[in-house]
Amino acid sequence: MTDSSWNLVLLGGPGAGKGTQAEKLTADKNLEHISTGDILREEVAEETDLGEKAKSYMDRGELVPDELVIEMVNKEIRGEEGYLFDGFPRTVDQAEALQRVVDLDGVVYIDVSREEVVRRLSSRRVCEDCGANFNLKFDPPEQEGTCDKCGGNLIQRDDDRPEVIQDRYDTFLEKTTPLIEYYRGRDLLREVDGEGSPDQVYSRITKALDKF
Ligand code: AMP
Repeated sequence: MTDSSWNLVLLGGPGAGKGTQAEKLTADKNLEHISTGDILREEVAEETDLGEKAKSYMDRGELVPDELVIEMVNKEIRGEEGYLFDGFPRTVDQAEALQRVVDLDGVVYIDVSREEVVRRLSSRRVCEDCGANFNLKFDPPEQEGTCDKCGGNLIQRDDDRPEVIQDRYDTFLEKTTPLIEYYRGRDLLREVDGEGSPDQVYSRITKALDKF
């Protein structure tokens, strides 16, 4: 199997580093990155119908209803091969919908403790313009408040406020962790320790992918 024909899922809680790892993986393996969180944030920014419907759920740290997200992802999928799904699926219903349109080759679960999630997300900042992520503690921008990549303004995501982080983690435990067993039962799951530097985690992921 060539890298670009893989269909992979990155599974993990909020702040597990899915976005950071997905960026590297899609570049290295020539995959198309489908991040439902990124697509939803764009819909909110553009004030589309979907964005209007999704916003209140996102602000509360809850999941956007399955039917909206499934329809949105189905529109993104044009062929059968070469996708990296990041932040999708997040429920068993979403996983079943995905299975109907794509043959998955593997699912990587990035495991990070609740304490580490709170530490990471409360110091995360994102660029208003290009969406690049920084971390005030672990990966600060060169100039405070300014994006290194495009010079845009760095802001805190509404859902990275401490009270919302706890709700997002609870939602993850309740709705998304059942997917770990779901994919393990289908022999698709590889688990990776998500603590440590992004490069350390990336090398664990590529090792895990060698086993598929
Ligand atoms: P993320 O950037 O992946 O953490 O997603 C941010 C927010 O978007 C989540 O807290 C949810 O409100 C919403 N969201 C993203 N992906 C999904 C999904 N697959 N299902 C439902 N809601 C989602």
